[in-house]
Amino acid sequence: MKDILLRKIRDEYDQKRHRAFNEAQRRKEDIYKALPMLEELDKQIALTGIELSKVVLLKPENFEEEITKVRSKLDGYREEKKLVLKQNSLTEDDFKPVFECKECEDTGYTSSQEKCKCYKQKIIENLYDMSNIKYRLQKENFNLFDIGVFSAEKFKEEKLSPKQNMKNILEACGNFCLNFSRESPSLLFHGTTGVGKTFMCNCIASELIEKGKTVIYQTASNLIEVIEEHKFKKTEEAGINKENYNYLFECDLLIIDDLGTELNNSFTNSELFNIINARMISDRKTIISTNLPLADLALVYSDRIISRIFNEFAIFKFFGKDLRF
Ligand SMILES: [Zn+2]
Repeated sequence: MKDILLRKIRDEYDQKRHRAFNEAQRRKEDIYKALPMLEELDKQIALTGIELSKVVLLKPENFEEEITKVRSKLDGYREEKKLVLKQNSLTEDDFKPVFECKECEDTGYTSSQEKCKCYKQKIIENLYDMSNIKYRLQKENFNLFDIGVFSAEKFKEEKLSPKQNMKNILEACGNFCLNFSRESPSLLFHGTTGVGKTFMCNCIASELIEKGKTVIYQTASNLIEVIEEHKFKKTEEAGINKENYNYLFECDLLIIDDLGTELNNSFTNSELFNIINARMISDRKTIISTNLPLADLALVYSDRIISRIFNEFAIFKFFGKDLRF
């Protein structure tokens, strides 16, 4: 992976952590200013703590007696502090730093020294050309979804009105996010352009990233570029290294937007199949959206991919007037 990029992310994490500690320090100072007796109590607790370690270390003749004495003094201060906190509607948590990620406390690594999900997602966003995703997701998420833009009139030969159809899709996608697990189905969205497929993909991405899931969102043509870069570039520096390439297989959700518009050949066909297939075998979810009618999709891709998708994905058809006009 590009070193500069990695360093940039590391710096961001260091800064986040610093900010959290500074913020906690400032809060503590404010509390002390308002409640000087609390500062005094904390001082006494710290001093008595030192006293206690001294007794333990020096082991005086009357060790038992000494240690009981110091311990009860310490307990006394602690009780007193508890009372003061309670009287002022404070808790110990008010003194602690508030980290963006509770899992890794903004270090990027969990207690078992593995990369935290938030850190993986950060790497993914930087590597997979998703740097603008946070911005996009602010504008396109379930809270901002406006069912009112869909017509309640019958549309062509469809049984449901676009509005009723979209209500059903919205409910299914809401449930997909709510109950996101290994048992969830993968999803296929198809329909003409401008009927809300990409918006729906963004809603789901936004919701799941918010929940701490790792999500890669790529157009099919971008995805093919990443794959080709990885397979054909001679040096790691030029492309995405193996570990980061593997995120395509390992991320919790892979969204492939606009399938069918990319340059298609037997290489891309088999690479796509590999990814989709491997993800299915390991129970990882994929969302595919395409503007092609299903029959055309079947012409473009090999039977292997198509039968995998048609048999195992939950399929949703989007239709209605083009909303972009
Ligand atoms: Zn984290």
